[in-house]
Amino acid sequence: MTSETLNLARALIQRPSVTPEDAGCQSLMNERLSKLGFNVEELFYTDTLNTWARKGSQSPHFCFAGHTDVVPTGRLEDWTFPPFAAEISDGMLHGRGAADMKGSLAAMIVATERFIKNNPNHKGSISFLITSDEEGPFINGTTKVVDLLESRNEKIDMCLVGEPSSRDILGDVVKNGRRGSLTGHLTLIGKQGHVAYPHLAKNPIHLAGKLIDELSNTVWDNGNAFFPATSFQISNIHGGTGAGNVIPGTIDIQFNFRFSTEVTADELKTRVIKVLTTHNLQYKLDWTLNGLPFLTEPGLLLDATLKAIKDVTGIDANPETTGGTSDGRFIAQTGCKVIELGPINKTIHQIDECVSIHDLEQLTDIYEAILVELLT
Ligand SMILES: [Zn+2]
Repeated sequence: MTSETLNLARALIQRPSVTPEDAGCQSLMNERLSKLGFNVEELFYTDTLNTWARKGSQSPHFCFAGHTDVVPTGRLEDWTFPPFAAEISDGMLHGRGAADMKGSLAAMIVATERFIKNNPNHKGSISFLITSDEEGPFINGTTKVVDLLESRNEKIDMCLVGEPSSRDILGDVVKNGRRGSLTGHLTLIGKQGHVAYPHLAKNPIHLAGKLIDELSNTVWDNGNAFFPATSFQISNIHGGTGAGNVIPGTIDIQFNFRFSTEVTADELKTRVIKVLTTHNLQYKLDWTLNGLPFLTEPGLLLDATLKAIKDVTGIDANPETTGGTSDGRFIAQTGCKVIELGPINKTIHQIDECVSIHDLEQLTDIYEAILVELLT
């Protein structure tokens, strides 16, 4: 079995682009975009290759976004097929990045080629925003390209990110938003001492008990029609000197909020500080805001996506906002509508990552149908 999308997906997988390497993936894609008349800009920041390619200058401006980098393979001997061989077996394409997200990249390119061939006089413009730094620290990737576009006052109206959104069958889930992510790095300060003389010390681990109880039982909000309730989770606790007879002087607690659009990061910070104050605690607290929440409400982009999925697969897709963060959050901050749609995510980041060849074909058809909906 062979197809254009499959061939391109294989060629991309065979380029071992572990974050932040691009390993020639973007030049392969950009050659094809240039042939279609795209104006291609390759933007290299520190260690990351990005592409901004656009055809046309009119609105509506529709953008395909994605990443060429992949997560590390893990132990090579654990893989059934070598991770960068792009082997085919039983209708599945195997390899690192097959589902996250080189299959999607191939489908975007082929869908665009077909669309332009069939609709040479389409309206609006099409662009590609591609990075090799999505799986990494996301410093020199999409966010930098978005800054550049903002400085030029170049606006994207609608964006489709090819992240693997599907759960059990292709197209059953699209992401029409993502929760925000806020991490707190808390140090509770007590007083170190001998366990046999507790009256001379102040045990921060004991102080943490009541605090954790309150924070973990607080209802931060009830979510809304598009978002589940905001959740608070502790991810790390470290306290103790290692000695069995010493009360430690401090305890470190790291926690994370996945938050809806019902609260802001600042509100969450204020409420945590209020709890700390009520408990009369001495502390040090630093915050990392990993991403703001975004939401694409029903409208042109979401409707076109749901219709395209229905037309190609017969499925009624579910719009959801669950899961981790994605580069969609940076693009959405510019006011652009963002949707995520890609293959089944069951094997992503795992040993033996793979994608169905049939799904890649259908994904290409869906992407093309979305272009038809929006730009003809
Ligand atoms: Zn991804």
